[in-house]
This record gives sequence, C-alpha cells and structure tokens, in this order.
Amino acid sequence: MNRVYNFSAGPSQMSEKVLEKAASELLNYKGTGQSVMEMSHRSKEFLEVFESCRSKLIELMNIPSNYKVLFLQGGASLQFSMIPMNLLKKNKKAAVVNTGAWSKKAIKELKKIGDAEVVASSEEDTFSYIPKDYKVPEDIDYFYICENNTIYGTKYHELPDTGDIPLVADLSSCILSEPIDVSKYGVIFAGAQKNLGMAGLTLVIIREDLIEENDALPSMLSYKVQADNDSMFNTPPTYAIYMLGLVLEWIKDEFGSLENLEKVNQKKANMIYDVLDNSEFYRGTVVKEDRSLMNIPFVTISKELDEKFIAEAKEQGMVNLKGHRSVGGMRASVYNAMSVEGVEKLVSFMKDFEERNK
Ligand SMILES: *Cc1c(COP(=O)(O)O)cnc(C)c1O
Repeated sequence: MNRVYNFSAGPSQMSEKVLEKAASELLNYKGTGQSVMEMSHRSKEFLEVFESCRSKLIELMNIPSNYKVLFLQGGASLQFSMIPMNLLKKNKKAAVVNTGAWSKKAIKELKKIGDAEVVASSEEDTFSYIPKDYKVPEDIDYFYICENNTIYGTKYHELPDTGDIPLVADLSSCILSEPIDVSKYGVIFAGAQKNLGMAGLTLVIIREDLIEENDALPSMLSYKVQADNDSMFNTPPTYAIYMLGLVLEWIKDEFGSLENLEKVNQKKANMIYDVLDNSEFYRGTVVKEDRSLMNIPFVTISKELDEKFIAEAKEQGMVNLKGHRSVGGMRASVYNAMSVEGVEKLVSFMKDFEERNK
C-alpha cells in the first residue's frame, strides 16, 4: 500500500503510528471485545480514555488549574457564535483583528450577537501580514484574534498585549505546534482536524472566571452547562477524543515535549522557506516576520507553472498542494504529522522543478 504525503490544510495527514494503533484496537479495545466507538460514553472504559486524553493534554500544554478543558462539537466555526453568546457581557462589544477568511467569519457571527470593532485589517494586502499598529479599546468584553491564518500563512509570533481584557484566540491550525503560555489567554479554541486528530471534535480551553451562568442560552451552547457536565451534557465525540489521546501519546513518544516538536516544525518550515528565499522562480506570499510554521503559501513565476507544479507533485505522491482560491498558487501545510522526509521530498521536487522550468 502506497501512502501519499498529504499537504492538505485540513483535514490533514495523521501519523501512521497513530493510525496503526487505532487500527490495531479498532475491533477490540484492550480486551473489552468492543471498539471505542461502540462504548457507552459513561462506561468505565471510556471514562478512562477521556480522562487520560485530558490529562495528557493538560500536561503537554501545561494548562494551569484555573482553566477548563472542554471537548465539544460543531467545529471551530461554532465557536464563532458560542464565544460572543457566552462572553459578551456589560459592553456587548468585542474587538477583532481582521487577518483573513477565518477572522472575517468570526466577525460576521459576532455581529449577529453584539458589536464588533475591527481595530486593524490586512485585507488590502491580501492578508500577507499581521497588523500590529492599533490600540486595544477599553470598552470591550474581549479581544479576538486568529493566531495562525491557515489560508494566508501568517502567524502571530507575539500576542497582542490586552492587559486585563481577555484574549480569545482561534488556534485551529497551530495548536500543539509549539509551546504556548496558556495563562495569556482567556479562551483558546481549535477544531481537531489539523493538529489534534480527526474532524468532529472541537477543543475549548477557557479560564474559569469567564464561565458564567446564562439561562437565556441554549444548554448546548453554554460553556457553563458544558463545564458543569464535564463535556458530557450529551454524548461527546467519543472516537475523536480517543484519537486525540493517541495523537498526544504519539507526540510524547516521538518528541517528548512541545519544545522539541517546535524545533522539528521550525526545521521543516525553514527547509521550504530557504528554497523560496533563494530562488527567483518561487516567491513566498507572506512577509517574513509573520510567516507561519504550519501553512506555507507560495507561487512560481506563472499561473501555468503553478498548475504544472501541482499536477507533477501529485504524480510523485505529494497531494493537496493547491493554494486556497483566494491566494492562488501553492500551499504546503506541514502540520505536526508531516515528517521531515515528506518535506525533504517536497523540497527536492521544488528544486528539480525549478531547474526544469526556469
Ligand atoms: C479550519 C479552520 C477553521 C474551521 O474549522 P471547522 O472545524 O471546520 O469549523 C477555523 N479557523 C481556522 C484558523 C481554521 O484553520
């Protein structure tokens, strides 16, 4: 069986070790005679899967004890609504930096519930940088950013200083790619299908003092209800939680820590950026200081060659390199599960393609 190198932005490649472990336990999980997906979410066996997943995450990310970890559904996109529903309080207003398609969607949903003050935007430059020149307003309930912009390939390398105002951040495409200081955030959220495993699970890490009772909210959309019920107000996405547990175990076994994993991610990204920076043929589409480690968009000297690049790469077992339609060109998404070998293969193809087509 030939597996491809999958450079998709999401759902994305998983480690073969994780997939093999899941396969080996698919029919009979640890002698229970059942698959994890057949188990009651209230069973002792599943509660162990759940607890072990959560404690591994808390350990790996060093999540302080005044934060709650919630395993929800609805994708990162439902958080665009849940966040304002739960966090808009006395000001009924949040500030947002517009860094691309995902922050625009968040702004759109926020506006249905309260006021959005867009303090800065890089839209006029096709979102090729992270705006840094703005003031954090005082009359807001929270400040919102999309920390890694999956489509445009920009990343906050320094968080905005919001003082006492809670910082809410979409980490869907950068979570677990590097160590972070969770205490700097009010809320972190991420869909699982990029660095956390499979679609169907949404991770929310929220500071406890931000979780407030609000009887007006539908129960499923209330952080308070979800937290009080330990993410089991209804059936949680059991198999996706199990898969996250396997991913976390793999990270610990393979890398030991997020510090080590970050080094590997830097190495992988630098291999690609080096080619872009030392070539007249390729061009990265993002300003250097804001480049993402996870999503690397680039173009060649012509649209025709971009298409040829994508087609030839596919023939060689490197798939999903087509850039988002709003940027064009190529995008290599190199999440945690993309191996150094996969990036080496891409880089050597890039050099060869340049030689043949320049
Ligand atoms: C993929 C992605 C989303 C959307 O996630 P869903 O789980 O599909 O809702 C939101 N934000 C960012 C930054 C993403 O990369």
